[in-house]
Amino acid sequence: MKLPEKYCERMKRLLGDEYEAYLKSLEEPAACGLRVNRRKAAPDELLQAVPFSLERIPWTDNGFYYEDAAAPARHPYYYAGLYYLQEPSAMTPASRLPVQPGDRVLDLCAAPGGKATELGGRLGGKGFLLANDISASRAKALLKNLEMAGIPNCCVTAERPERLAEACPEYFDKILVDAPCSGEGMFRRDAKMAARWEEAPPETYLEVQRHLAECAVRMLRPGGMMLYSTCTFSREENEEVILGLLADHPEMEAVPVAPFSGFAPGFGDLPEAVRIFPHRMRGEGHFLALLRKADAAGGPENMAARKEASRVGDRRKAAGTDDARRTEKALSKEQLPEAVRDFLKLTTLDFSGGRFLLEREQAYWLPEGVDRHPGLRYLRSGLLLGSIRKERFEPSQALAMALGREGFGGVLNLSAEDPLTVKYLKGETIPLSGNAGPSPWRLVCVDGWPLGWGKASGAALKNKYSPGWRWM
Ligand code: SAM
Repeated sequence: MKLPEKYCERMKRLLGDEYEAYLKSLEEPAACGLRVNRRKAAPDELLQAVPFSLERIPWTDNGFYYEDAAAPARHPYYYAGLYYLQEPSAMTPASRLPVQPGDRVLDLCAAPGGKATELGGRLGGKGFLLANDISASRAKALLKNLEMAGIPNCCVTAERPERLAEACPEYFDKILVDAPCSGEGMFRRDAKMAARWEEAPPETYLEVQRHLAECAVRMLRPGGMMLYSTCTFSREENEEVILGLLADHPEMEAVPVAPFSGFAPGFGDLPEAVRIFPHRMRGEGHFLALLRKADAAGGPENMAARKEASRVGDRRKAAGTDDARRTEKALSKEQLPEAVRDFLKLTTLDFSGGRFLLEREQAYWLPEGVDRHPGLRYLRSGLLLGSIRKERFEPSQALAMALGREGFGGVLNLSAEDPLTVKYLKGETIPLSGNAGPSPWRLVCVDGWPLGWGKASGAALKNKYSPGWRWM
């Protein structure tokens, strides 16, 4: 690999004695990682189910190494959303932001969703994830990945960070800022990035990184936590961004990240941060710093009460969500068209709490805690249930993915080895025999895990798998 000369000089200065070991590590192949979707399967369950071998990534509880030849993206379980393919170090930021069920979480630079899907999984269906990316085209990929992961309690926006900060002051409990960066930590995986470095060295990103971190502080509630991460080595893009932020915001403090023996501490005055180097552990280069905003009323023991208080009243008005609720014409389940209600009764999802929306012939469910803020550009609010045309309801791909195992009253369950499974994923019509159900709709599953919809028509199942998601 040809590394830019200037980059090598900087790395020599940064690493000192370790520089040679770093260079040597670049000759080793990069490790491949797979992260189990905790919303759908337990890590041990997946370990038993897959036909390829996996090895635990020791600093996460749901990440595994796999060999390239295993090709996990060519297995039906990938289409069932049971796992996400992610570089091992890139699993670290979402694993070290202490997200709890019920939290309001923002992923400010979320596309394509490697970390947002894990943050959503950690919420366990309770609370709210706002996944944002400034790029609308990248936000579409993010939406698909969140749908595939089966996360109902999220919204997706394509917004500039300052507009979000205006709409959501002191609103979130946890924020991830996975900032755009010069990507030095990824050179081994993608040699093109090394070439790009010369056109866009670390200085290129500093302004946007500081801006993102600053906006995140504005959106963090007192007592809340944010994690800033990059996949680059330069001190300017990492420690210096954070130290600058801490200097401007005495209400923010750096807190230690849950440890792992391979982690190196941050440089200089930021030992609480974590550095991941490829010569010290089996993953690419990363940086993460965890920060906490001081709590007006003091120590963490009052956190739960204050968090609850911040959920109601003034803060909500400040965030404008009351106004949004008034204009959005939310419906209760009873107010939904009969065709939708009848269909939802056949699912195992618990729709108690939350509200429903009908917009342009589409029905959505916004679980309790999912807020919309006026004036923001939403690509998605909550779970798209399906569309209503001529009083008929057609369920969405997202609804299928959000259901639990065999979570519908009418299932066609195929095994991962059955050739019909791949035929279904390719969009082909498949035979259906002796499979009666309370409606013509069938939830097609692989070993119990939902893949998508089909509609019974005599002895065949019409394929309703989302065309954009097909197996190629
Ligand atoms: N967190 C993502 C994941 O795990 O899949 C990767 C994020 S990538 C490192 C950085 C992202 O920041 C890009 O998708 C880019 O479009 C986005 N971005 C760049 N400038 C931004 C800005 N000013 N506001 C929000 N997002 C921005």
